[in-house]
Amino acid sequence: MSKYSNLNSQLIHGGIDGDEKTGAVNVPIFQTSTYKQDGLGKDRGYEYSRSGNPTREALEALIAELEGGIAGFAFASGMAATTAVLSLFKTGDKVIISSNVYGGTFRVLDKVFNNFGLTYEIVETADLKLLEDSLTEDVKAIFIESPANPLLTITDIAAVAEIARKHGVLSIVDNTFMTPYLQRPIALGVDIVVHSATKYLGGHSDLIAGLAVVNDEALAERLWFIQNATGGVLQPFDSFLLIRGIKTLGVRMDRHIENATFIAEALQKTPGVKAIYYPGLPDGQGYAINKKQADGPGGMLSFELDEKYNINKFVESLKLITLAESLGGVESLVCHPSSMTHASIPYEIRQKVGIVENLIRISVGIEDKQDILADLEQAFAKSLEA
Ligand SMILES: *Cc1c(COP(=O)(O)O)cnc(C)c1O
Repeated sequence: MSKYSNLNSQLIHGGIDGDEKTGAVNVPIFQTSTYKQDGLGKDRGYEYSRSGNPTREALEALIAELEGGIAGFAFASGMAATTAVLSLFKTGDKVIISSNVYGGTFRVLDKVFNNFGLTYEIVETADLKLLEDSLTEDVKAIFIESPANPLLTITDIAAVAEIARKHGVLSIVDNTFMTPYLQRPIALGVDIVVHSATKYLGGHSDLIAGLAVVNDEALAERLWFIQNATGGVLQPFDSFLLIRGIKTLGVRMDRHIENATFIAEALQKTPGVKAIYYPGLPDGQGYAINKKQADGPGGMLSFELDEKYNINKFVESLKLITLAESLGGVESLVCHPSSMTHASIPYEIRQKVGIVENLIRISVGIEDKQDILADLEQAFAKSLEA
């Protein structure tokens, strides 16, 4: 299917490359809601932009190719993509989610889908025995993230896909943190991949978008129906921006990894750091599994600040690094998961899954790594309580 076997070429030329008619090297932005029909029942392949838009289609072809699936779908946000995927299920079905899934994934199941009788159960999916024991008759899907947010917990994706297949349930991976540049779950046997493309795929903190990829005709048909029926589609201009962002994914990701590895190794030696979570540290949880299933550890890390340091003062003292939600952009961001990204998860559950109050998550950007470290070091110094 793909013109290039090397991902670095696919990132730039994959999907629909440029414009056949004019020779424009970029896919045009088809900013149109509707299309002229030449007669009754005679359209030119497009009728209405909720159902199909050439700019969005170019993006959908690109992400399908990058993830190694047969069909891609672009949505107005990562949550719209996840919502569309969860709409494949019905009343009485149950979805297993890993204990560190994105807060919004938990929230949409807990507060929206629960109202329609689609239930969920939180399972530490890194523990495969526990996962298999939780597969009751009503379970129809396993939804995981690896690395999971915010503790970067690694789950063996191929093993989960195999368990899912054995029990006839769908496996779904939120691949936001790794991107297809580092990890391709479909090749590991997974049925559905979802993305918050707002993060690394977009890469510049300038758009909200979501993607889904499947590798099965029947699933593709059902997801296309849901996308068109529920309508949370990505706009043409944002589709263009996302294609543009994806072109530089490889070079950005390489630098994210270089910088994050440097920061993680430095933080290991920093007195104010009680615990550090980064999939690139050989003594951390899941290191070997991540190495087996992904081409790198990514750019996200979390650490626990020692109680002797004032966490408020720490984040307020940062100058280069911005305190903000989100991740995966060129700029470094910090967030406080328990009050920000994971605030929608009740306190008791947060404690249970290890999202403690003094946990700080860093999306390590692609600025100069010494500058990033220097900013952290001055914040440690300022936040040490006398
Ligand atoms: C941000 C995020 C989402 C939600 O995506 P939006 O684009 O914000 O709707 C889902 N999963 C993960 C892992 C995320 O980081």
